[in-house]
Amino acid sequence: MKENTAAIEKPLNEIKNISILGATGSVGINALDVISRHPKKFSVTALSTNQNIDLLYEQCVKFHPKYAAVADESLSKDFLGKFGNSEFKPEVLVGVSGLEEIASLNEVDYVLAAIVGAAGLPATLAAAKSGKRILLANKEALVMSGNLLMKIAHSNNSQLLPIDSEHNAVFQCLPEDGVKSKVAKIILTASGGPFLTRPLNEFQDITPSEACAHPNWEMGRKISVDSATMMNKGLELIEACNLFQTNAPKIDIVVHPQSIVHSLVAYLDGSMIAHLAYPDMRVPIAHCLAWPERIESGVDIMDLAKVGNLEFFKPDHKRFPCLKLAYDALDGAENAPTALNAANEIAVDNFLKSKVKFTDISIVIEEVLQKIEPKNLDNLEMIMETDLEARNVAEQFINQSLLKH
Ligand code: NDP
Repeated sequence: MKENTAAIEKPLNEIKNISILGATGSVGINALDVISRHPKKFSVTALSTNQNIDLLYEQCVKFHPKYAAVADESLSKDFLGKFGNSEFKPEVLVGVSGLEEIASLNEVDYVLAAIVGAAGLPATLAAAKSGKRILLANKEALVMSGNLLMKIAHSNNSQLLPIDSEHNAVFQCLPEDGVKSKVAKIILTASGGPFLTRPLNEFQDITPSEACAHPNWEMGRKISVDSATMMNKGLELIEACNLFQTNAPKIDIVVHPQSIVHSLVAYLDGSMIAHLAYPDMRVPIAHCLAWPERIESGVDIMDLAKVGNLEFFKPDHKRFPCLKLAYDALDGAENAPTALNAANEIAVDNFLKSKVKFTDISIVIEEVLQKIEPKNLDNLEMIMETDLEARNVAEQFINQSLLKH
């Protein structure tokens, strides 16, 4: 399996130039923390934000990237204005084309894909086409594009290394020689989020701030809600199928509230290899930056005696209907995961704006999965069409139905 997620090794002793897509987000900030510990190994060539030009400016002052990318022209002006008469100013690029450009610059070796949602797909594809090492956090890009991203990466010798902690754990536990037949199962762990024990009759009153308060991880708002509904694990199930070229029956999901075991691989002989670390994204980020070497991440070695008990149990599909919907999408046509992802983005966005209830998220997604006509996806245009169609169906359903508050 390993052969599908990592292609050719590059010289390790040379300084690596990095573009960070989504530098102002939770993953981007953690990556810059790791990079700042290794100035002789990594250099930041480009950083991007959508809107947060204040933080992007601070990051630019610290890391001196040659390029910075922002959402549009007016932000670009405000952003450049912050540098005043300073000798250092990055070249500013804008919009989707700006992101694609910083993802495919000749001088760039590694691209961290850490934009949230479908918005990250075009630049991630550009990085794959340009043969970059992609440190992939943006799981939605892989979920919505199915095999297309994998195929493009493979045919351009682009290494696709998983930053998502579970997939990174699996990647670390898979056989070194890549012989798939040794592997009996992949086991993805799930924290279960903040509502693992909340009475079901209180779910409809869950607020955005409660849903974003993850017990173990500090993450962006969208993925925090995904964790609370367990759609995050559903997306990760699809991500794992694409990344490791396997299928749902070969993957188990187990709830592990402590988030210490990040995932496991079970072998034919009954052995299980697990990856353990404190829940801190700097661990998988450092692993992907250095692979196949190891570097310090800033995270302590675990004190197992202090960690104490580790629990594991089966997910409760009644409590987390989104997880079942991800299985349904995998069983459906090629465009079903794309539709699932788009519907989820719309439903979560409306929940975060308090326009729909927490319990409405799965209802919106189910409606979209039922309405979307099953299709194969042969190219990017078809993927984007499905994405748009699913978003429209979800928006219409939210606006027209009783979901409206
Ligand atoms: P955040 O919301 O914290 O950050 C997202 C980043 O993407 C920000 O820099 C944001 O800019 C930028 N962005 C948002 N929308 C757009 C857009 N339309 N165009 C261009 N840039 C955009 O997200 P996270 O860092 O939490 O997550 C990033 C990705 O990594 C997600 O796909 C998530 O599922 C995945 N992931 C995250 C983990 C985590 O621990 N956070 C763990 C595993 C996976 P701005 O600051 O202006 O909003």
